[in-house]
Amino acid sequence: SEFSALGLSDWLIDQCKQMGISKPTPVQENCVPPILQGRDCMGCAKTGSGKTAAFVLPVLQKLSEDPYGIFCLVLTPTRELAYQIAEQFRVLGKPLGLRDCMIVGGMDMVTQALELSKKPHIVVATPGRLADHIRSSNTFSIKKIRFLATDRLLEQGCTDFTKDLEVILSAVPAKRQTLLFSATLTDTLQELKSIAMNKPFFWES
Ligand code: AMP
Repeated sequence: SEFSALGLSDWLIDQCKQMGISKPTPVQENCVPPILQGRDCMGCAKTGSGKTAAFVLPVLQKLSEDPYGIFCLVLTPTRELAYQIAEQFRVLGKPLGLRDCMIVGGMDMVTQALELSKKPHIVVATPGRLADHIRSSNTFSIKKIRFLATDRLLEQGCTDFTKDLEVILSAVPAKRQTLLFSATLTDTLQELKSIAMNKPFFWES
């Protein structure tokens, strides 16, 4: 199959080619169309399956059609994963002049607060640090985001983010698209319990 058959725009397909990505992987083939149609999506696929691009691509396409404030919030458990996700947004979203920001632990809170106040299109965050910003600041708002995405958020062995997720979910709008990606089905279901979704499209590799 081809990327164009999934409903993605030529400029995004060109960016994929520049990254050496020419054909969609199964998780992309299955999850991109329902996301572009506006549905919530749960995808379960292992690392290396292209699951990050499965949500990065449709989010970038929607962002290019209707840019607005902080457009998408991505939650992930570690700094390393946050970096990888932000990097994919940056490379694939380059023609948009995409502005992204990483909100992770171990970095300066003041610098991060300043970055958030500049309304980046994409915020990639670990839940603990983002919750700290929500509690302590009124210089940014995520109450109008269009997408909430999670990547491997509640995987086994990761920190328990329940309290932080409560804080974050009360700061995002009920009307949004929620995209949840995990490596195993158990993790996926555990995440679903914490993050309200509306009749999600479900796909498992
Ligand atoms: P992930 O499963 O998200 O950790 O992605 C693993 C790697 O696969 C990343 O380095 C991506 O750049 C790459 N990738 C994503 N989609 C594709 C694709 N359709 N074809 C080849 N490589 C891809």
